[in-house]
Amino acid sequence: MENQSVSRDGAYDAVGLRDLYAQTVRVAIDAVPVLSIGLLAVSAIGFNRVDEELFAVVVALVGVAGCATWSYRYGATFAAVCLVVGLTAVFGLAVCILRSDLVSPWFSIVVLITCALFGWRWGAVHTVLAFGLLLIAAGHGMPTLSVELATNAILLGSVALFISWLISRPTRTALAWASSSYLQELALVQEARERQAELARLSKNLGESNYLLEQLNLELDQARRAAHQARQLKEQFAAAVSHELRTPLNLIIGFCEMMVLSPVKAYGKSLPPNYRNDLEAIYRNAVHISTLVDDILDLSQIDADRMALRREWVSLGDVIMQATGPVSSLFRNRGLMLEVQMDNDLPLVFVDATRIRQILINLLANAARFTDQGGVTIRVRRDEAGVVVLVADTGPGIPPEELPYIFDEFRQVSSVSPRSGGSGLGLAVSKRFAEMHGGSISVESEIGRGTTFALHLPVDSSTIRPGAVPSWDDRLGRRVRGKAERLVLVVDESKELERVVARYLDDYHVVTLADLHRHDDGTIADVLQAVVVGSEGDREFWRKLSAESPRLWRLPVFSCSLQTGQRAIAHLGVTDYLVKPITRDHLRMTLRRHGCAPKKPTKVLIVDDDPEILLLLTRMVKSISRQYQVITAADGSEALALMRQNQPDCVLLDLRLPGVDGYQVIEMMRQDPQLCAIPIFVMTAAGIHRESILVDELNIKREGGLTVAEAMRLLKVGLDSLATPVTSAPAPTAVPAA
Ligand code: ADP
Repeated sequence: MENQSVSRDGAYDAVGLRDLYAQTVRVAIDAVPVLSIGLLAVSAIGFNRVDEELFAVVVALVGVAGCATWSYRYGATFAAVCLVVGLTAVFGLAVCILRSDLVSPWFSIVVLITCALFGWRWGAVHTVLAFGLLLIAAGHGMPTLSVELATNAILLGSVALFISWLISRPTRTALAWASSSYLQELALVQEARERQAELARLSKNLGESNYLLEQLNLELDQARRAAHQARQLKEQFAAAVSHELRTPLNLIIGFCEMMVLSPVKAYGKSLPPNYRNDLEAIYRNAVHISTLVDDILDLSQIDADRMALRREWVSLGDVIMQATGPVSSLFRNRGLMLEVQMDNDLPLVFVDATRIRQILINLLANAARFTDQGGVTIRVRRDEAGVVVLVADTGPGIPPEELPYIFDEFRQVSSVSPRSGGSGLGLAVSKRFAEMHGGSISVESEIGRGTTFALHLPVDSSTIRPGAVPSWDDRLGRRVRGKAERLVLVVDESKELERVVARYLDDYHVVTLADLHRHDDGTIADVLQAVVVGSEGDREFWRKLSAESPRLWRLPVFSCSLQTGQRAIAHLGVTDYLVKPITRDHLRMTLRRHGCAPKKPTKVLIVDDDPEILLLLTRMVKSISRQYQVITAADGSEALALMRQNQPDCVLLDLRLPGVDGYQVIEMMRQDPQLCAIPIFVMTAAGIHRESILVDELNIKREGGLTVAEAMRLLKVGLDSLATPVTSAPAPTAVPAA
């Protein structure tokens, strides 16, 4: 009741409570005429009389109710004051003019109304004032007011006051509680509404963002497809252009090589010095263009993610030795020194030795080309991330403003490059190769003092023991430590599948049958993840081997038979193949290896539809030895006719020929008892590393079967891998195009 939030003096700040109070005032006002008429009725029925005085009092009461109703327009409190004052006045009137027992209950009703409308304190004040008036009136001998009547009235009034105090206390507490709960609820509802509105706003924004995201996703997907297509086109274009360039270049290089290196053997006389110098220039430039073409092809393959690394554990010292060999003459000719300094405790590195050698040759060739005095020092040492190879020269240096761009494609420093040609691709390719290894190349340079390139290669310290290849124990240890090197057994007699798996599956370490036999205690067999088998023969071999060993028997088997040039050639049953551009040395070694060495007069039939290649090869063969007699044919039927007329000792055969092609020539030779023993050397266009390799079929099998989940996962990987749109790339043939 004392709760300030519900005190009558303006503390009803809640709209609901003010309404409630107004309603109570209204009910009190309305009750007055009803009670008055009830009073009249009680008097008439109970006491069987209605005197004029009572009637006057009832009229006065109705008048008070009327006044209060009128004053209600000025506020409920004002109406309540009017009502209580009016009722008290009429009560005074009644006391003066009525001699009735009704005065006492009436007085208590007035007290009750005051308490209900203003609280028990005002009710008490009102009661005390009324008591005072009654006592004064009784004391002055008011005829209508007996002491007994006044005492009754005072008693009943006090009881009414006590009852209203008793009732109003819990009522007000409940009201206060209800009011504060109501206020809290109201605040919560308001908050909920605000949250709801905010949520609606957010949900709308989310819808818009979703829509935008979907649009962006679509655009991204389109862009990705376009980029994929562009990359493929670029790669095809680079491959096609480089192929087109290579054919004439090979001819130029081949002819120049013979004219410069062995003119007497090839042409019967030596060249005048002027011609020789000019030819050397042509030769150098042709070789340069050929390197450029190779670089462009390398870059396009890296961009198309087609180039994979063939990593192996190698010693950096060996790689450096292999890199310095080809460039040492360059240093010698220019009077430059080349020094190698290596730390003693260098670990082996797990890299593609060919690519690292390519990087080093490029750095060394650059250093030699641009340095006039002094020379180059190669320093190899460990650093916190792995090993670093520093190639420091005493050349002209690179201007600081050029340094940030030095690894960009086709970037050349104008103050340095004009005098030495170059393409501006070497460093770009080197950088990409280093990054493919998880490493990097950086450069520091000072004008006039020299340039230092640093090749950083990461080394996983847990795999390295200085100077040693990680043992099986190490590998098993790593596996136990959760850092497993995944092992896959490759069963492939031709070694081709082994090469491809090692090159393309970077995360796996290839184990061969030889490794398996070397560790026949089962340590390897236990940690193998799968087996990849090649040809039908390999599969048969594996079936027998696994049947004897339960450890191997449970392994999943991937059958993957490759169609490669080598395999196809083995299948064709020819003696060997030569990869274009065919160099004189390579030709000489191949012929010698297969017993076609010119100890006695040897007839060589060369079959190619390109007359210039025929001419080049004729010169080459003749330049190797005068014992060789060369016959040439431009197509298959001519070759067969010539062979039958004048049986050669060996045949150099291009496979792509007009009319009867190389395959048919081989077939017919095999069927002819006269020709079947002649060694055949097939000539192919692409290098063995760049030839097309096809897989006819990929088969996955595990004894005991795969679970449906495993099979579906494999299917998904397969579907996802083949999902990219296949562009109209020409289907490679089973045998490298000749
Ligand atoms: P290229 O040597 O075929 O022009 P590179 O990408 O190998 O292409 O080199 C790019 C350029 O960087 C060179 O043309 C040369 O201007 C500059 N450069 C490379 N190595 C050195 C060096 N050791 N000293 C000075 N300049 C160099």
